[in-house]
Amino acid sequence: MVVGSIELLPVPDAVGLLAEYGEAFPDVPAEAWEPYRALYPELFAGESWHLPCKCYLVRAAGVTVLVDTGVGPSGLWDWTAEREGELPDALRTLGVDRDEIDVVFLTHLHIDHVGWNTDLEGSVFFPRARYVVHGDSVEFASSQAERPHVRRCVAPLLDRFEQVDGEVEIAPGVTAFAAPGHYPGHMALRVASEGANAVLLADVAVHPALLEEPDWVYVSDSDPAQSAETRRSLLPELVDRDVVVACGHYPGSGIGRVLTRDGRVVWEEVR
Ligand SMILES: [Zn+2]
Repeated sequence: MVVGSIELLPVPDAVGLLAEYGEAFPDVPAEAWEPYRALYPELFAGESWHLPCKCYLVRAAGVTVLVDTGVGPSGLWDWTAEREGELPDALRTLGVDRDEIDVVFLTHLHIDHVGWNTDLEGSVFFPRARYVVHGDSVEFASSQAERPHVRRCVAPLLDRFEQVDGEVEIAPGVTAFAAPGHYPGHMALRVASEGANAVLLADVAVHPALLEEPDWVYVSDSDPAQSAETRRSLLPELVDRDVVVACGHYPGSGIGRVLTRDGRVVWEEVR
């Protein structure tokens, strides 16, 4: 789709079973998920969280940005994968060569967001790209140097990362901003062009249910109270506003809008 004159395209990489909902959100009773099972069937497989992992390509004024790099070549992540390693083919389908990526923007350094930073040998996968990431994310990942995804997808880039520490324009009309709570230095993106707006949430609300229940605690958030606070502060900008809301873990393209429907706050894909 386009946001003004900026292109926003999903780049699927993987789909799999992450965990049972009861493990990922231990404080949330099973029955509380039922309305979301009906709203977002793609995200449920029995009691398990059926998780898509998509990246986004943003093209603004001749600058091509890849937002996050997915789970990567299969085998790195110990999860129940259905499909993995699709990003290179997905880029090819979009007619984009990896030489054409000008900026790799990493919202944070969890394993499902860094997989194609490098190839299986640890060589940089996007040879021309600036790799932009928050310094706190780099510091935190470096403190987990023994973890396989850090060893393969983060450590080889330590000299190359362009470390930022707050709001920064990474391409004309594409601005990264601090969205703390999910991971140290976690960032999201605002896209603004010709009066049109989009927000790429990254993992501010990893499940669309969190747009309605911002205080639900996800076990992988490094600072759950801060994560809830970030959701609460962003929601007025998202709900029933003329703004596109994208998240790589949401159904379909992950590109949609947040609306009030029958008294519920729901995310709906834009088709
Ligand atoms: Zn994620």
